[in-house]
Amino acid sequence: MQITSKQPNIGTTIFTVMSQLAAETGALNLSQGFPNYNCSPKLIELVNHHMKNGMNQYAPMAGIMPLREAIAQKTFDLYGISYSPNDEITIVSGCTEALYAVMTAIIHKDDEVIVFEPAYDSYVPCVELNGGKAVYVTLTPNNDFAIDWQVVKSKITERTKAIMLTTPHNPTGKCLTQSDINSLAEVLKDTNIFVVSDEVYEHIIFDGRKHLSPAMHPELKERTFVCGSFGKTFHTTGWKLGYCLAPKELSAEFRKAHQWITFSCPTPFQYAFADFLKEPDNYLSVTQFYQEKRDKFINWIKDSRFEWIPAEGSFFQMVSYKNITDESDYDLAVRWTKEIGVASIPISVFYANKIDNKILRFCFAKDDEMLERAAERLCRL
Ligand code: PMP
Ligand code: GLN
Repeated sequence: MQITSKQPNIGTTIFTVMSQLAAETGALNLSQGFPNYNCSPKLIELVNHHMKNGMNQYAPMAGIMPLREAIAQKTFDLYGISYSPNDEITIVSGCTEALYAVMTAIIHKDDEVIVFEPAYDSYVPCVELNGGKAVYVTLTPNNDFAIDWQVVKSKITERTKAIMLTTPHNPTGKCLTQSDINSLAEVLKDTNIFVVSDEVYEHIIFDGRKHLSPAMHPELKERTFVCGSFGKTFHTTGWKLGYCLAPKELSAEFRKAHQWITFSCPTPFQYAFADFLKEPDNYLSVTQFYQEKRDKFINWIKDSRFEWIPAEGSFFQMVSYKNITDESDYDLAVRWTKEIGVASIPISVFYANKIDNKILRFCFAKDDEMLERAAERLCRL
């Protein structure tokens, strides 16, 4: 049978490619973003407990109420913003589904979505598979990946349907500032443009910074879909559970998409997170945990020939290798995986035109032993 591909230019994601190569070659895998340590035993006990208690059938389409209530409470306590558990919070199968469902809900044929690049790899396919077109704002190391809001403004047309943001950002680790959020509000004033805000790393933020969601701005909340995930916060990327926060009318359309994508998400995991979120230290402690990891990794590579600006958030550190070689970042990531046994992600893959700034991304969500061994190898280069 012949199939006419809807994604003719898309191959396997870089994360799968590099993780597979790392597994085949026995390299230390600092490529794909997932922890190599386990989640809290308490969380595993809770899942077991709820499974044994018979919580094994379909959850409600929007998610179990105790989890939606726990998210509402946490979001209010941390950011001072209110979402009704009834009709403004939806539990989904990871942020990946949240992003897809938002795009399915809002995009009509030929709508434009503003995407900052380097962009997390699922964003543009989500837009295009739903009939939209990505309009890029290109961020570069020349000004430390800062956003020029005049450029953003210049990209807005009558077809612009949404603007996608990531804070903390993957792969750059940059975080939105209050000034960014004010500029965003200014740019979007008197428009009907939605904001899709990917906040999966909300708790992985460094040096005393506070996570700022566009939804905290009174003029932006009404147009914002906040997409979150428990995977990064609780070392449970394999459980694929996340959520979307949005005002009632937006959530209603979001749910229409969600009900056809997964309908509902695994029940015992939802009950477990509902219990686990009741203890704020379970998510508040994550910030310090990753601060230590970032600091250790940076310290262990301090004698290397790489150059870097410490990540502001996320569990990724970008490094420039321009003092070492001028090879392409993709070839180099592959070669170093095979030859020195450390896998990374080349940043060019996050640019539509594969711009090569000679930067690699290392994931430091790894145990100290692995990070130290990887750093030793990197220092020898
Ligand atoms: N957004 C970003 C920025 C990510 O880095 C990731 C995955 N690491 C996702 C979304 C997907 O999250 P999930 O695993 O919850 O689907
Ligand atoms: N978000 C993870 C990363 O950036 C990977 C998730 C995935 O493999 N899809 O590495």
